[in-house]
Amino acid sequence: MAEGHAVARWGDALRPLIGERVVDIVVPPRWRERAEFLRGAELTRVETHGKHLVLHFSNDWVVHTHAMQYGSWQIGAIGQQLRKDARFARLRLTTSTHNVVFFHGPVMEVLTVAELGQHERFRSLGPDLLHHDFSAASVVDAIQAQGDREIGDAVLDQRIVAGIGNIYKSEGLFLAMIHPRRAVSSVTSEELKVFFDELVPLMQQGRAQPSWIVTLPSDLQLEPWMRNWVYQRRGQPCFVCATKIEMIRQGNFQRTTYFCPHCQVISGR
Ligand SMILES: [Zn+2]
Repeated sequence: MAEGHAVARWGDALRPLIGERVVDIVVPPRWRERAEFLRGAELTRVETHGKHLVLHFSNDWVVHTHAMQYGSWQIGAIGQQLRKDARFARLRLTTSTHNVVFFHGPVMEVLTVAELGQHERFRSLGPDLLHHDFSAASVVDAIQAQGDREIGDAVLDQRIVAGIGNIYKSEGLFLAMIHPRRAVSSVTSEELKVFFDELVPLMQQGRAQPSWIVTLPSDLQLEPWMRNWVYQRRGQPCFVCATKIEMIRQGNFQRTTYFCPHCQVISGR
């Protein structure tokens, strides 16, 4: 699943291409006419915000993408062997030295800068917790203003804070010892600060490592498949207290949350 750390990593991999010009571009029929404007244009900026990635070009056109759960990028030299079948490519972009492919992504749009500025979903994003200037204080009020909404649901709302996905949500709430069913109004500013203090370094670490999301410290990774404190560990013993990990579904989209019912107390501290 593409959480914010993976999108940030793809952005990091695309930035060395800034200054290069588009030699060729292949997109689905819907965008073909617009994509012609990109030929010869120079890549000027790579913007990531939460799970959105935007390529900015010198002539004020942009490519806006959202990977959702399934999308991924492959960035390499011209002639690179594609990791997946080319028919799954939503975007194939060639510069004088690089070949870039966006696979499976449900959102791939060729827009003007002005259109991106009006883009409802992009414009309404909350602060990105992987941006260098992120401060937990800037989102605490917005989270607490959600009243009786469950914390495990609220922190996935990209309009409040952008970048957290299902795995990091479960892991961050465990490390902060916050029960996912607690109403946000009962979660203190201090607890939220602990949540972000635990989560942001983990996600920055994940951004640098293109592999499985690993949140367990190395001395607890007794087997190669042991990667996380609680995620997808339903029925297995908690690494801290040995209580069985539980799984619940939360929010309109019934997203799964894993937690320890002993370490993460429902009543607050
Ligand atoms: Zn526990």
